[in-house]
Amino acid sequence: MAIDGPAGAGKSTIARSLAERLGFTYIDTGAMYRAVALWALRQKLDPGDRHRMEQLALASEIELSPGRIRLNGEDVTEAIRVPEVSSAASKIAVIPGVRRAMVAKQRAIGERASVVMEGRDIGTVVFPDADVKIFLDAGSAERVRRRLLEMRAKGETVSETTLAEQMEERDRRDSTRADAPLAQAPDALYLDSTSMSIDEVVEAALRIVRTRITNGKEFR
Ligand code: C5P
Repeated sequence: MAIDGPAGAGKSTIARSLAERLGFTYIDTGAMYRAVALWALRQKLDPGDRHRMEQLALASEIELSPGRIRLNGEDVTEAIRVPEVSSAASKIAVIPGVRRAMVAKQRAIGERASVVMEGRDIGTVVFPDADVKIFLDAGSAERVRRRLLEMRAKGETVSETTLAEQMEERDRRDSTRADAPLAQAPDALYLDSTSMSIDEVVEAALRIVRTRITNGKEFR
């Protein structure tokens, strides 16, 4: 099952809840790009250095377990959530070699288990034959509002204007890159969550899942 959409649309919350309801494994692919970006930042490498970034992506050992992510054995769950890493992740994500390495890891995970995988290119590139694809969207003001609440809940002080600018820049980079830009797959269900509750979005997604299951298809 594939869930794509821009930053702050609610992908993580919805994907996590769906995975729990379905007994599937939840995979946050953004966390994987973030982990590689963190590694690059720590080594003071230029995220624009395509060759170096591809090497890092290939060499990175990324382990995802419920609610945690480890990079080369170290728990980086909190470290990857800072604004510098968000921005660097979207910079390295334009590099085809980095994407190839991440997509290979993601496909390997999807082959081992039934997954709810969220990101930007899951329904278009990683699993184009996923049984259920959702493109989750929300108005930009609402997406900024949600991210702001999330950050403040973690005790971070951030100005709304700065956050809005950072999110806009990241979404623009993600949507306009040449390789696997953020896009709705033609067979994805478009859900605008701006004025929907989490439960409403989850229910709408589950309705699609039930339709697929009653059609007797094998589910992935
Ligand atoms: O989902 P999240 O905001 O954590 O993703 C961080 C960045 O990783 C995105 O802005 C995007 O550039 C990149 N990404 C991607 N493809 C994915 C998931 C994330 O390019 N499937």
